[in-house]
Amino acid sequence: MTIDLHKLALETIDAAADHLHLDGWHRALLHRPERLTAVQVPYTADDGSVHVVPGYRVAHSTARGPAKGGTRFHPDVTQEEVTGLATLMSVKTALMNLPLGGGKGGITVDPKGLSETELESLTRSYTRSIAANIGPDLDVPAPDVNTDARHMDWIADEYGRVTGRPCPGVVTGKSLTAGGSLGRDTATAAGCRTVVRASAERLGLPTDARVVIQGFGNAGAHLATMLAADGMRVVAVSDSRGGIHDPNGLDIPAVIETKATHGSVTHHAGEIVTTEELLALPCDVLIPAALEGAIEAPEAEQVQARLIAEAANGPCTSQADRILADRGITVIPDVLASAGGVTVSCFEWQQNERGERWTAHQVAERLDARMDRALEDLWRVASERDLTLRTAACVLGVGRIVEALDRRELAATDELAS
Ligand code: GLU
Repeated sequence: MTIDLHKLALETIDAAADHLHLDGWHRALLHRPERLTAVQVPYTADDGSVHVVPGYRVAHSTARGPAKGGTRFHPDVTQEEVTGLATLMSVKTALMNLPLGGGKGGITVDPKGLSETELESLTRSYTRSIAANIGPDLDVPAPDVNTDARHMDWIADEYGRVTGRPCPGVVTGKSLTAGGSLGRDTATAAGCRTVVRASAERLGLPTDARVVIQGFGNAGAHLATMLAADGMRVVAVSDSRGGIHDPNGLDIPAVIETKATHGSVTHHAGEIVTTEELLALPCDVLIPAALEGAIEAPEAEQVQARLIAEAANGPCTSQADRILADRGITVIPDVLASAGGVTVSCFEWQQNERGERWTAHQVAERLDARMDRALEDLWRVASERDLTLRTAACVLGVGRIVEALDRRELAATDELAS
C-alpha cells in the first residue's frame, strides 16, 4: 500500500503552523527541503553486469543541527516519499530536543533479490554519489527499512576512503567494532516500550494488556520481546506474508525462532490472520511497526484497541487519524513512538565526536529520560490546548524548528543591516 507521505508530512506541518500562527516565510521553509540530492547509483551484480538504480538524500532542515535520518532500500522509494520522511524527521528530532535537524535517504531497489556483495557494491556506490552532501556536521544517515549495521559500516568506510579521513561520525547505527553505540539496535523498540508503558498506565490499562503488533522487523520483533517480558500479552504479530493470533498470548521467542527458520511468522502455531484482520483484533494496544499507510479510514473504523503506538513512520493516514480521534482512541504519534532510534543515533554521534564510549546502562537511562520528558511535554500541551497528541507533537516540534529559524534568519538580517 503506498500513500502520499509527502502530503501527510505537509499536513503535519500545516496543523502546527495554524496553531502557531506562522507566517508565509516560515511555512515556505518548512514545506520544502533545504537540500535535495537525486543521484543515479550504478552497482555491479555477481555476474559482472552493471545496473543503475535511482537514489536520494534529502536534508529537510538543519536549523537545529546537522540533518539526521535513516536510509531505506525499497522498490517503492521515491523522491517525494524521502522528502516527506525527511520532513517528519525534522519534527521528530525537534520534539526529542536533540541538537539535530531532519533528513532521509533511500534507494529504489528491492534488496531481497540482491546478494551480500551486490548490496555492498550498491551501498558503497550510493555513498560515493552523495559523499559531498553528508558529513558529521552536515547530514548523518542511519538505518531504516531494509538497512542495518552492515550497510552503515560500508557507508562509514567508503566515506573515509573518499575523503581520505576516517570519520565514524558520518553515519550512525554502525556495528560496535566500527564505532557504533551499545543499545542502538534495540533503541527504536526500547523507546516505544517506554512510551507504551507510561501511556498504558495513564489510561488505566491492565498490566497484562493485550498487544497486537503489525510488522516483525527490527522494531516489531524487539518490541514484542520487551513487552512480553514486561508481562503484557502479545496476542498477534504479523509480517509481510500475514499474521498469527493467539488470544492467550504468543510465545515470542518461539515466534522469532520460527521466522528465522521458515522466513515468516505465519509458520508458527496459532490462528492465521490477514493484516486487515489483525488490525481489527480485540486488544488494548495496537502497534503498527511496518510501513506507512497501514491504517487508512476503513481500518481505523475497525480498530478495537484503546491505545495505538506508531512505531513505524506515517502508519496512519490523516483521514484515519481523524476517525481514531473521534472514536476516542489515543494515538502516540510516530514522531514520538518511533523516536528511540534517532535518539540513540544522536548518542552514537556524540560519542564518536567526543571519542567516548557510554555503557549500555548510560544509554538506556538517557534514552528513557528523553522519552519520558517528551511524552510528558506532549500530554501537557495536548491538555492545555485541547489537542490530540499528534497535533501537540507537531506544535512542539515545529515550534522549536521555528525558534531556530528565527535565530538564524534574524541574525543574518541583522548582519546585513549593520
Ligand atoms: N530510521 C530511523 C527513524 O526513522 C532512525 C533514524 C536515525 O537514527 O537517524 O527514526
